[in-house]
Amino acid sequence: MKETGDPKDQQLTVALRIRPLSDSEKDEGATVVAHKVDDQMVVLMDPMEDPDDILRANRSREKSFLFDVAFDFTATQEDVYRATTKGLIEGLISGYNATVFAYGPTGCGKTYTMLGTDEEPGIYVQTLNDLFKAIEETSDDMKYSVSMSYLEIYNEMIRDLLNPSSGFLDLREDAKGVIQVAGITEVSTINAEEIMQLLMKGNKQRTQEPTAANQTSSRSHAVLQVAVRQQSRYRDILQEVRFARLFMIDLAGSERAAQTQNRGQRLKEGAHINRSLLALGNCINALSEKGGNKYVNYRDSKLTRLLKDSLGGNSRTVMIAHISPASTAFEESRNTLVYADRAKNIRTRVKRNLLNVSYHIAQYTNIISDLRSEIQRL
Ligand code: ADP
Ligand code: MG
Repeated sequence: MKETGDPKDQQLTVALRIRPLSDSEKDEGATVVAHKVDDQMVVLMDPMEDPDDILRANRSREKSFLFDVAFDFTATQEDVYRATTKGLIEGLISGYNATVFAYGPTGCGKTYTMLGTDEEPGIYVQTLNDLFKAIEETSDDMKYSVSMSYLEIYNEMIRDLLNPSSGFLDLREDAKGVIQVAGITEVSTINAEEIMQLLMKGNKQRTQEPTAANQTSSRSHAVLQVAVRQQSRYRDILQEVRFARLFMIDLAGSERAAQTQNRGQRLKEGAHINRSLLALGNCINALSEKGGNKYVNYRDSKLTRLLKDSLGGNSRTVMIAHISPASTAFEESRNTLVYADRAKNIRTRVKRNLLNVSYHIAQYTNIISDLRSEIQRL
């Protein structure tokens, strides 16, 4: 997370995580085509039909991408949390909204990054833990309360994942002009284990249906909303002085409806998901325009309506894009890298220091020797 002082100066941080090669990819004979070169650079190589051709062809068939931070299979859950989300907490308790998205095709690690497992908890639980710790350490003059809700946007409908029997919920603007989900369950607990149990249970309620491309393709966006209310004691009366929200979002799979051979209802769902993702991309682009005067159409989708206050104004936004390293996932990885690349705020991009040439050569030499040993194993 970059710290430039002015929150408006860091509207979007883009991180990229490459998950480990899975057993099923290994079984298919997939090779690794996405490599992390350094803390910010990722190289994607077009897989070759003829392995003997690989060294010659790589020169023209590889493409590098720069991000604010890049992770590969060596990164722990804590590494990812620290470099992407931890820095948002201080702002949150000072009244700045924040948003963290996990983006990428189904099966590339979005839920692993956000929810994780009991042993390897993801960003949700690590963030809440640190938030509670940070609040404990603040002065007694202030009283904080934290509430949490977990919802799903599926087919442009909102469901409460902590109380699925409540049916579809609506978005409403409250008296202060803040968009709220009417009737959503709000939980206030500071017990991390309890939170993990609630989220795990909630996650099982997410709408997941098999498609031609993936056994379980997640078409729903899961949204963990954390609201921090801050009150000050003035003559023994508590007055609300600040309200800030953090949205942590496990987006629906970004794979295209056309590529999953969807038909009928599935196609409609796919179109909705694309609409939400597209609307999100449009909002982020408009917000990162110089001067920030460009018209931002939040009304295009449920997701962007809900995020209206979080994306605009004093907000910090982090996108964590996910890819598989496998040759079999090349097309999807390329689409994801291009999307994430486009999402970068140009102003933050120019701040990156260039690496010196000999460093690059050393990194490429390593990649080439990795590839050689891969070829030998074939
Ligand atoms: P998505 O939510 O994007 O569809 P998942 O998070 O469900 O993908 O990941 C798919 C599979 O890969 C899961 O079995 C998950 O445990 C595993 N996985 C994903 N990322 C990692 C990682 N960084 N390290 C280890 N396993 C991972
Ligand atoms: Mg998932």
